[in-house]
Amino acid sequence: MLKGKTALVTGSTSGIGLGIAKALAEQGANIVLNGFGDTVGPQAEISALGVKVAYHGADMSKAAEIEAMMKFAADTFGQVDILVNNAGIQHVAPVQDFPIEKWDAIIAINLSSAFHATRLALPAMQKSNWGRIINVASIHGLVGSADKSAYVAAKHGVVGLTKVTALENATTGVTCNAICPGWVLTPLVQKQVDAKALDMGLSNEAATKLLLQEKEPSMQFTTPEELGALAVFFCSSAGNNVRGVAWNMDGGWTAQ
Ligand code: NAD
Repeated sequence: MLKGKTALVTGSTSGIGLGIAKALAEQGANIVLNGFGDTVGPQAEISALGVKVAYHGADMSKAAEIEAMMKFAADTFGQVDILVNNAGIQHVAPVQDFPIEKWDAIIAINLSSAFHATRLALPAMQKSNWGRIINVASIHGLVGSADKSAYVAAKHGVVGLTKVTALENATTGVTCNAICPGWVLTPLVQKQVDAKALDMGLSNEAATKLLLQEKEPSMQFTTPEELGALAVFFCSSAGNNVRGVAWNMDGGWTAQ
């Protein structure tokens, strides 16, 4: 379905980003990976799916590095047809104690990076009259949780950016939508499980159950594969007129 298209997925060396990159590669898209940590394993996983893969290590908190990454993607594959703004970090603390450098980093990586990558990807998408911008927001783009001020502010911002990008391109073949996952068991969430286990003297299993119980009626994690399938839907022709939505996959979190 996506043969001949190129997808750039930020923060795709791990977790949700890697899951979405694999789902798009399974549909034939060439992939540009980005992110920290092990970069060789993820590249091998994508190339095993029979598509071309490239990697750029841009730090998504830095506009100049994002610009270099977008240029690298265009030079390598012609243009970016599908942009998945996924890179993100978390830090938890009450507002009055929230470290300023953590606030700045979360706003830069979770929100401003999506603006920079989007503004740089749009001209080529508009020229070819086809493009898909998928912003991995969060359920925290729709509701708040204590101790997550920067994250919730950034994710609400991502949902706003999604709507405006969708509206500005509404008469074209370029769509922009957000995905709002509830809990997904990735390193980002495992850190929160570990903190809960430590604070409360619980086993990993008990802390995981408590984390789910607090927010997610299904008592199940959403998986990167399920989120990848939603991204594929947005890229399909059935998604041609899906514009500016913030689509939750949250086990009933926001139905309460
Ligand atoms: P993760 O920690 O597994 O992956 C994060 C990715 O971002 C990694 O590839 C990491 O290397 C990359 N990254 C971090 N800082 C970066 C930077 N400065 N520059 C470039 N890359 C950077 O986390 P995840 O859970 O897969 O999170 C992915 C996205 O999904 C995030 O935006 C997160 O907010 C969102 N999300 C996660 C959950 C969840 O429950 N895990 C729920 C809702 C939304």
